[in-house]
Amino acid sequence: MELLIDKKADQDYTIVIGCGRLGANLANTLSDEGGNVLIIDKSKDAFRKLSPSFGGLSISGDATDLDVLQEAQIKKASVVVAVTNSDNANIMAAQIARELFQIKRVIARLYDPERECVYREFGIDTICPAILSAKEIDKILSKTGMSEDGSREEEK
Ligand code: AMP
Repeated sequence: MELLIDKKADQDYTIVIGCGRLGANLANTLSDEGGNVLIIDKSKDAFRKLSPSFGGLSISGDATDLDVLQEAQIKKASVVVAVTNSDNANIMAAQIARELFQIKRVIARLYDPERECVYREFGIDTICPAILSAKEIDKILSKTGMSEDGSREEEK
């Protein structure tokens, strides 16, 4: 079955892989901004996280399966974002997108910070929640200090 992707898909078609807390949020945001979005998850139940206003498409299946990615018309995608809860699945889907389909913008979430730099070399952008969280916490700590009585005081 050929999915009917919007005409503007050639310039703007984002595939989000993983409809968990992050993926669903991202897909809802992109769709609300008028983007052309398709989301894949191996569990149909996951699509309940999409908002009622979500205007994109959804496919259930394992995103490391080539047939599933082809059903999603990955070759037409301008962006692929892999945010399942499995580093291996994200890496595999991201590499298929880059190597087999030459998708220019590919982003993968990696829980393991040690794997992050390797994938930059393959043209895959990575986001690592542990590193982002550490940076944010450090930022908060550098903005706020503790006064002598133990209460928090904002730094000037
Ligand atoms: P979360 O942990 O809330 O970010 O959710 C991660 C989502 O990724 C879940 O809904 C999983 O069903 C989904 N998921 C995990 N592995 C795969 C995979 N190989 N293909 C598609 N979806 C996956």
